[in-house]
Amino acid sequence: MADYSMYHALGQGEQLDPNDPNSRTQPAAPQFAPPIAQQQQQQYGGHPYGASPQLQGQQQQYMGGVPSPAAAPGYGPPQPHGQGQEQYGAPQDLTSQMAGLGIQDAAQHTARRKKKDRHAFHTVEAPAGSSQAFNGMPPAGTPQTAFLNADPSVAAGGQFLGQPVTPNQFGNSQFPAPVNPPFNPAAASPAEFAARNGSADQGPQAAYVPASGGGQVSPDDIPSVPISRDVPQQHFLNNVYPTFERHVPPPASISYVAFDQGNSAPKFTRLTMNNIPASKEGLNSMGLPLGLLVQPLAKLQPGELEIPLLDFGDQGPPRCRRCRAYINPFMMFRSGGSKFVCNLCTYPNDTPSEYFCATTPQGVRVDRDQRPELCRGTVEFTVPKEYYTKEPVGLNWLFLIDVTQEAFNKGFLEAFCEGILAALYAPDGDDDEKDENGESKRRLPPGAKVGFVTYDKDIHFYSCHPSLEQPQMLVMPDVEDPFVPLSTGLFVDPHESRAVITSLLTRLPTLFSSIKNPEPALLPTLNSALAALEKTGGKVVCSLSSLPTWGPGRLFMRDDGKHPGGELDKKLYNTEHPGWKKVAEKMVAAGVGVDFFLAAPSGGYLDVATIGHVSSFTGGETFYYPNFVAGRDNAKLSLEIKHTVTRETGYQALMKVRCSNGLQISNYHGFFQQHTFGADLEIGVIDADKAIGVTFGYDGKLDAKLDAHFQSALLYTTASGQRRVRCCNVIASVSDVARECVKFVDQDAVVSILAKEAATSLGSTSVTLKETRQQLTEKTIDVLASYRKNFTSQSHPPGQLVMPEKLKEFSMYMLGLLKCRAFKGGNESSDRRVHEMRMLRSLGPGELSLYLYPRMIPVHNLAPEDGFPDENGHLKVPPAIRASFSRVEAGGVYLVDNGQQCLLWFHSQTSPNLLVDLFGDGKDSLKALDPYSSSLPVLETHLNAQVRNIVEFLKTLRGSKAFTIQLARQGIDGAEYEFARMLVEDRNNEAQSYVDWLVHLHKGVQLEVS
Ligand SMILES: [Zn+2]
Repeated sequence: MADYSMYHALGQGEQLDPNDPNSRTQPAAPQFAPPIAQQQQQQYGGHPYGASPQLQGQQQQYMGGVPSPAAAPGYGPPQPHGQGQEQYGAPQDLTSQMAGLGIQDAAQHTARRKKKDRHAFHTVEAPAGSSQAFNGMPPAGTPQTAFLNADPSVAAGGQFLGQPVTPNQFGNSQFPAPVNPPFNPAAASPAEFAARNGSADQGPQAAYVPASGGGQVSPDDIPSVPISRDVPQQHFLNNVYPTFERHVPPPASISYVAFDQGNSAPKFTRLTMNNIPASKEGLNSMGLPLGLLVQPLAKLQPGELEIPLLDFGDQGPPRCRRCRAYINPFMMFRSGGSKFVCNLCTYPNDTPSEYFCATTPQGVRVDRDQRPELCRGTVEFTVPKEYYTKEPVGLNWLFLIDVTQEAFNKGFLEAFCEGILAALYAPDGDDDEKDENGESKRRLPPGAKVGFVTYDKDIHFYSCHPSLEQPQMLVMPDVEDPFVPLSTGLFVDPHESRAVITSLLTRLPTLFSSIKNPEPALLPTLNSALAALEKTGGKVVCSLSSLPTWGPGRLFMRDDGKHPGGELDKKLYNTEHPGWKKVAEKMVAAGVGVDFFLAAPSGGYLDVATIGHVSSFTGGETFYYPNFVAGRDNAKLSLEIKHTVTRETGYQALMKVRCSNGLQISNYHGFFQQHTFGADLEIGVIDADKAIGVTFGYDGKLDAKLDAHFQSALLYTTASGQRRVRCCNVIASVSDVARECVKFVDQDAVVSILAKEAATSLGSTSVTLKETRQQLTEKTIDVLASYRKNFTSQSHPPGQLVMPEKLKEFSMYMLGLLKCRAFKGGNESSDRRVHEMRMLRSLGPGELSLYLYPRMIPVHNLAPEDGFPDENGHLKVPPAIRASFSRVEAGGVYLVDNGQQCLLWFHSQTSPNLLVDLFGDGKDSLKALDPYSSSLPVLETHLNAQVRNIVEFLKTLRGSKAFTIQLARQGIDGAEYEFARMLVEDRNNEAQSYVDWLVHLHKGVQLEVS
């Protein structure tokens, strides 16, 4: 049974069952666990292989040891063609499982509106009957398949159809009313203003299709991103995603438990299509890229099986002699087990004698179920010395702390030091972070060490040796020729030296309060960090709060802010300084990478293009605070330092992707060093949030009777100092009929590959922003036109824009891409543009999805049960609404999260009662709220607990960035402009509304087809 105490308790605002002791217990159980995980631990006594309820029947297999997917549906050894057909039965099962979801939701919502909750008081009552549109959920009785991201073969209206959209039925109005009604011009708030006028000065020519009659189309008929997430989310609360059943993976932005049946889980790998055309011509007829996204160190969700770690001793893992692919579930054993045929290059290898095992008459090794490398898609091998470039050691973390005047004055120095302490050590008295002996748990694995350097125009090294009473500082004044003045004591065990480190980090702000050098010398500091880490490799975490204008590599104001037509001078996308390029290259060679924490001085110029080059090139990350405000942003900074330090991190990495004969790699997209084409990718550091895109071309024709195989192999050193290879194995079927392939397209992967390609080309070629936007638009039209031309029957009237079922939200995501800071029209600072352009190149598909289309959840009209666990212990998350101002209700309050920041937006007429319930006594007007709040207070009210629970759930869906709340009060806070930017269905960010965009695409499709 569910443990309700894991959620925040109910408050007094709601009269529920008074006999239920759980309904009014203490507020805020601090530990929230994602619903699925908790559920399983309780059901199965917390054994490490906990799986979701759907797997109950197979549960006993895992209790004893190595999990066996043998009984899982659709699993088998590499199979002849005939078996593949059966596997396609699975999606229909999925469809039937998903049927019925969503409907009651709409019904319940109607009911909830009748309740007059104290906290849900509206100044203005929503129009009757709006709940469906508001919630974005289908009304009862709507055919389910129209809303499902499921097998298209059961969709109404033809096998491959999504919902036909008829843009011309929106009429000729400049403001297509249903989706984007004109805003009341009276007292327009910034958000309203921006939403209304976003592109007015640019004056884009909306493409209007001549009206051809027909009935009214509800704005809800255009494909909804919120529904495309919420419906599968409901399904995956109660079901796992079995990876071998070959339907398309769940949307990347939702929570799901994957069950690895031999095919790598979508968290690690996503193919743009899971059924691949046999020929180049087939692929061309789809207009889509053939690509693979690999996020090799992606974090697992509670409830998922740990990645098996396998040790083959001095021999290392068995590999194909010809193509060097690693042993995997799809290699076929022949000749009684004495040969194994490579699934990638078909070479028949001799099985090493120590690895020999007899096979069944069907050719399956009898020990297969005991061998994770033969039944799991993602595995790790420890590797012997031949794989070392240097002796692996625990990861050395070197913190470089900016102690200049600006850092001190704006509170950034103090916040950064506090953040490091919070990242390294659990606070005293936090029992959740104690081990069985009552000792604080290690945040860093044993073997990992930390070191500290501060810098302004000088560089200061610190010895934090545990034998010292106080840290010792050594100044290295010669920035022209940096060296490391300490031979020992720089890198220490954070637990042995806890007292010294705590003393250092708490005293630094005071120490530098009187010195106040204005100019930092960053490049020399990076060079000395490299010198300190050259022998071992490691990770640098560096703060900076003003343009580094001192010493070698000093930077100057390159961006004069004049960007005609919004275009940046191409030189502003990259560094022009050879010293910065050189240090980045040397770092990669040494297995070093950098994460930067950049706080721009009052939003001023930092030359992110130059500084961020070092982090991106080495595989690190830039955390950028364009307008850091101490007090408001400390929590985010602190959480992000903690995330950096505690997320899965590897270093000194090499990566290689292999594919079946007939295919070849055409490009890699991401950050790495590749000396020659075809060579392994060299990566300084890699972490859980980084994804690399790979695109493929044909060097022959594939055999539709066989499957296509892919294997990515990441050789790296773990933070605990072990050299390993992480292998992800992916399989796709092959078809002579491209029409079949369209049914198995993964739109998250498609959008990710296109985004990475566009960002790479903008950052490294002469292509302009305008051309980039044109290319993205043409690509979108091309995909839809190819589908129309090649895969639809002639029965569709020309007035219909027809979208493939699996690409229903593709157009909206592409519009999101045109509107993001990396590519949007209009003026943007080069720092922000370049920062977000690089982010696109390294993001995983889940984080990208939210970035392109934020999740917007109304919190002013929650049903009483929202934000609390249901009978199965799953948190009931209210449906998200479309990101459009037309969906905003008077008096409404909304959480809007794009994965990078989360705003809590308040309508100017928000009810005082609601504010008090959310923020506490005395906070009864918008003006009374603290604009620097970054979280909600812990109160005993029902609404407060609901929203905090929803926030806890949203946190579990985040990627690299910490989840804190920023207030955006209508007519008060500047963050309202950001809110308006995030309403991506509206006309804003110098681009069209969603409806206008579809009309534009439709016109383009008609031109191409005719
Ligand atoms: Zn091979």
